[in-house]
Amino acid sequence: MDKPVYLDHHATTPVDPRVAELCAYYFLDCCGNAASSHLYGKAANESLMKARSVLGSIVNAPPESVIITSGATEANNIALMGTKLPEGRNGLCTTNIEHSSVLEVAKHEMKNGRLVRLVPCGKNGIVDPDMIRRATEDGKIGMVSVMYANNEIGTIQPIKEISKICKERGILLHVDCCQTFAKLPISINDVDLISASAHKVYGPKGVGALIAKPGLSIKPIMYGGTQEMSIRPGTVNVPGACGFAYASKLSNENWHEESLRLAYLRNLLLDRLMDGLGNNIVHVNGSMNHRLPHNLNITLMDVCPQTLRPAIDPFMSVSGASACRNASSGSHVLEAIGAPDNDKGCPIRFGLGKDNTEADIEYVADIICREARKLHGKGCAINN
Ligand code: PMP
Repeated sequence: MDKPVYLDHHATTPVDPRVAELCAYYFLDCCGNAASSHLYGKAANESLMKARSVLGSIVNAPPESVIITSGATEANNIALMGTKLPEGRNGLCTTNIEHSSVLEVAKHEMKNGRLVRLVPCGKNGIVDPDMIRRATEDGKIGMVSVMYANNEIGTIQPIKEISKICKERGILLHVDCCQTFAKLPISINDVDLISASAHKVYGPKGVGALIAKPGLSIKPIMYGGTQEMSIRPGTVNVPGACGFAYASKLSNENWHEESLRLAYLRNLLLDRLMDGLGNNIVHVNGSMNHRLPHNLNITLMDVCPQTLRPAIDPFMSVSGASACRNASSGSHVLEAIGAPDNDKGCPIRFGLGKDNTEADIEYVADIICREARKLHGKGCAINN
């Protein structure tokens, strides 16, 4: 291999060349500010409206429901802090395996006196809807926020069941679909708010969307402009939004077939690691059922992370946890499911993607098996 095999598609994906070409057109030719009233501005605004329409159609939402943001972090912040909740129910209920852009907002809100309830997920990495039912029964919760799939262990949450509970109780449901948008189906008819991000579906970085059910009232969390229905002020990233829409359309059309191919490769990777190292060394984190087909998260037991990582880094790009948290702080998700912690072994998250081949998987598995065998049971050469 002439470069490391890229296996970190939960962190981000390379831009699809077809999407890059489209973005280039908006960077270079259709360069107007979508809020300008001249022809360049009108052309940009028209393209933006088309992008909204494509993005909305993926979740059965009208174009006016789509608020373009800088990514899912911003979408999550607006959803949690800006949405008007049912009268007298200011509480927020979320889970302990959410992305930091939900958990940190929840913490911030709690410091400001808002009621926040954190529901623990099961050891399998899946949230039990009954726990949500119990946490919301006293009528104090106005919003539930649950991710569709976890960005570290890939577990898929029972959104339909949670949606039923929320509907019965008149509670708003926000779903962080950052890892699933234009992949797993979801409809705005079943939920109230959806967060998504372009760079997880082979679109550009720095653009995403909050999709809100028509009729919801959302206050901005920043001020200084009337763009995006005054919910998200600032010049809209037209090249990004158009690229996001195109990338999402391609992903949505292709996902069924691609998910089968990815599941095959992911299972092959696990088989090869099990064959080479055995299940005393390879510990799978989270349920293998109800899991994104391109995710594998393991801990290599009794293998020092600080020694294994530099040994495999030249050959592959994988990660230990979410890229959005400080690497040294470990993984709150692995901790939440009671996975072996860092001094028991080396956690590895694999996120497969569209350019990965069977040859990549064989190569990566061989290197991991070779290096893990060398290091197993030897302790940490580097202590920090
Ligand atoms: N939520 C989840 C589940 C994510 O995986 C990520 C990205 N790692 C985010 C939110 C934040 O997305 P963005 O990078 O677009 O801000």
